[in-house]
Amino acid sequence: MTPSPHLLLTIDYESWFAPSRRYDFLPPETRYELDGERSRHAVDPILEVFGESKVTFYLVGEMVEWYPELPEKISNAGHEVGFHCHIHRRLDNAKEIEKDLIASAGWIQKFNVRGYRAPMINTVEEVYPLLAKHNFNYSSSQYAPAGITVKKGDVWEIPVSTLPLLKMPTEFHAPRYMNIKLVSGGEFPYGSSFMSGLFRKTVYRIIESEFKAGRSPVIFLHPYEIVTPKGYPQNFIVDMLHHPLLFPFTFNKSKFLKDLLKNFPTSTMQDYIKEL
Ligand SMILES: [Zn+2]
Repeated sequence: MTPSPHLLLTIDYESWFAPSRRYDFLPPETRYELDGERSRHAVDPILEVFGESKVTFYLVGEMVEWYPELPEKISNAGHEVGFHCHIHRRLDNAKEIEKDLIASAGWIQKFNVRGYRAPMINTVEEVYPLLAKHNFNYSSSQYAPAGITVKKGDVWEIPVSTLPLLKMPTEFHAPRYMNIKLVSGGEFPYGSSFMSGLFRKTVYRIIESEFKAGRSPVIFLHPYEIVTPKGYPQNFIVDMLHHPLLFPFTFNKSKFLKDLLKNFPTSTMQDYIKEL
């Protein structure tokens, strides 16, 4: 069955420094200090922006340890709570992925978390049986054209959306992330907030045309793109100078978000799966 078109808007709930790899292996206390309660204070204003629109939030596990009220607040507002890894960094083998899943097992069980989003939308095929073992029913950790869903054993992959400009891809094996191979294959990964940062109007128009074609686009934004954290992006300047490609992640996209919410019906991923 083809689900009726909805905007599958997702929030990767991570701290302002997460786009840079420089912080991934610091002690957790240092990351907590760097966050400095910013992600705690952002949640209420963000939930307010969503109003009655229901979406999916993928939380970083160590942030749930820092701010235990986060999953409850998000879930009480009617949104889906998903998992964006215990520590926000790239995991490229089964052993590391499972270790990371186990580190967050407590709150994952408590909030019946069933959706997974790998950091940087970059994972490996081995993730799917592990997710099944840990009671997840879907992952959103690849890039692929809107409307594509792939069953990997008992777990759905519901990719972040691309627009295929040359030909329709036929292989959907992880990793399928934003790299030269993806883009040179003719896919425009408009679901990434990198693209909505650079080409807001184009992304909006693509979403409009996907709806007309009956497809449900999957896009993501970050909390620091909705509510600008204190001292940001000044405190991120060193990272941006080293990696200018991080710039689009620092643009505030709250107007874009409000336009989307005003004009497109949203859905959580779990409600979308029910129609598959
Ligand atoms: Zn992330």
